[in-house]
Amino acid sequence: MSKVAHYLQEHVVGEVLTSSSLRNYFATDGSVFTIAPSLVLYPRNENDVRKTARFTWQLAERGRVIPITPRGLGTDQGGAAIGSGIMMVFPAHMDHIVELDAKSGVVTVQPGTNYGKLQQTLHTHGRFLPPYPASFEYSTIGGAVANNAGGEKSLKYGTTNKYVRSLRVVLANGEVIQTGRINKREVNRKLGLATFEGEIYRALDKVYEEAKDIIGENPIRVTKNAAGYNIWDVKRKDGSMDLTPLFVGSQGTLGVVTQVELDTEAYNDQSTLIAAFFDDIQVAEQVALELRGMSDGPSAIEVVDQNLLEFVDKQNPNALKNVMQKPFHKLVMLIEFDDNNDRQQKRLTKKAQKILDKYEITYQLEREPLQKDELWKIRRSAAALISHNEGSLKALPIIEDGIVPPEKFQEYIQGIYAIFAKYNLKAAVWGHAGDANLHMQPFLDLSEVSGRQKTFKVIDEYYQLVMELGGSTSGEHSDGRLRGPYLEKLYGQEVYQIFQRVKAIFDPHGTLNPGVKINVNLDDIKPLLRHEYNMGHLFDHLPYS
Ligand SMILES: Cc1cc2nc3c(=O)[nH]c(=O)nc-3n(C[C@H](O)[C@H](O)[C@H](O)COP(=O)(O)OP(=O)(O)OC[C@H]3O[C@@H](n4cnc5c(N)ncnc54)[C@H](O)[C@@H]3O)c2cc1C
Repeated sequence: MSKVAHYLQEHVVGEVLTSSSLRNYFATDGSVFTIAPSLVLYPRNENDVRKTARFTWQLAERGRVIPITPRGLGTDQGGAAIGSGIMMVFPAHMDHIVELDAKSGVVTVQPGTNYGKLQQTLHTHGRFLPPYPASFEYSTIGGAVANNAGGEKSLKYGTTNKYVRSLRVVLANGEVIQTGRINKREVNRKLGLATFEGEIYRALDKVYEEAKDIIGENPIRVTKNAAGYNIWDVKRKDGSMDLTPLFVGSQGTLGVVTQVELDTEAYNDQSTLIAAFFDDIQVAEQVALELRGMSDGPSAIEVVDQNLLEFVDKQNPNALKNVMQKPFHKLVMLIEFDDNNDRQQKRLTKKAQKILDKYEITYQLEREPLQKDELWKIRRSAAALISHNEGSLKALPIIEDGIVPPEKFQEYIQGIYAIFAKYNLKAAVWGHAGDANLHMQPFLDLSEVSGRQKTFKVIDEYYQLVMELGGSTSGEHSDGRLRGPYLEKLYGQEVYQIFQRVKAIFDPHGTLNPGVKINVNLDDIKPLLRHEYNMGHLFDHLPYS
């Protein structure tokens, strides 16, 4: 055991482990990258996190930087849940629901809480957390907060940032703060504090004064955006401030979250689901736009393409047997209405049917749970693709989360197909049509030099496409190591420099998940590419459908 591990083991209550098998296990996440940590720590409580941060801060002051990478269940697809120093793993012990106020629906949890388990608990109280990611059964709340995760219901309900009321955060030097919006008077009090928190407020205040004109509005006009730091919702005109938006989506690069207070919504499983079948992508875009334009629109507009359906059918001819007829259509759109008021739900459904009728689209409408489950199988079939291998060809999460303005949906999907064709890639497209946020994992071979070169060419062309269409490199998965190199180009130099200043304010010694999101370029990540991709550690948890 190293001196560092030994010191930590003596000072924390949780376990400190350095076995090579464990370090190996935590050397990968859901991404195509790999970095082995020097040790693994399972914190038992906030004090363990505090002590570890204080220790790394003191070492860094003396010139030795040991990074801390907080980790939930490691499903991150951009390489944000791996790091070379201390791997701080939350689900081991800090996985409790601390408080649930059944009346208001406000719930307070530790970061390692499993998203799916929390959701089940909330359902029993007639509540739910709407921005659940597709990976909710095998990921944590801490990971969702740190990535500003979203999912099929984000169309109606928004992403995680909308539901986080406040956070407890351990800062880089081990100090603990509680976030939340504070008024101008309270801000003035913070500005006078002789602590690191005080320093942060003073430095941020200066940034907001000096860069007022640059920090106007987020320049990227998409419906959800997990790229960069949310510098736009921190300081308001009335002088109030809230650090929560900065931490949500910051991927462990500004602080370590130890407690999350969340709002929830009333849950209604009496939804209506429509599966609509398209042979013209332009018409699909038009329909999605009109559905979006409804006051009180659908709770979800999801899509899968013909390539995915054909892939699933080939792997398992029974999978879609009772759900869809062959030949498959170019796109299948799933449109859901979940309004709590039954009459309102029926009224909205009728409106959607009118839109579909206008374009002479065939569709199937279901309200019965079993029938709806059958239809949802169409969308869930993406799980079969991402866990499939064809020899050394693997479905890689490298271009899996770009988002463009909804009116660019058709151009976006055609652009993706053009990249697939140019590189002769076997690939499929699925995702959130309502937000024009698409997911795809092309089959590539990382064991060959040519495959690795091709991987980076595809990455580069795809992110150029997304940016040219006025989109964001990430709708919900955030930047990680994969998309960090594109952040400056995405936002422009001025905004990027503000991101850098924010990072330097919160993490002056670079101990918090360095190499993730900010100050990272393509040359940094190329050597981290795995030579063989699999999601070994996830296979135990991933659902197969
Ligand atoms: C098949 C598949 C489908 C997916 N679908 C979606 C989807 O629909 N929507 C979506 O948004 N994402 C999706 N993801 C990505 C990912 O699963 C989610 O973002 C998830 O919320 C991450 O949770 P996790 O517990 O696995 O976090 P991890 O992967 O462990 O960590 C993610 C990030 O959070 C940071 N972090 C974790 N805990 C803390 C903490 N306590 N304090 C500070 N930082 C912390 C980590 O350092 C890392 O930067 C998918 C991934 C896979 C593999």
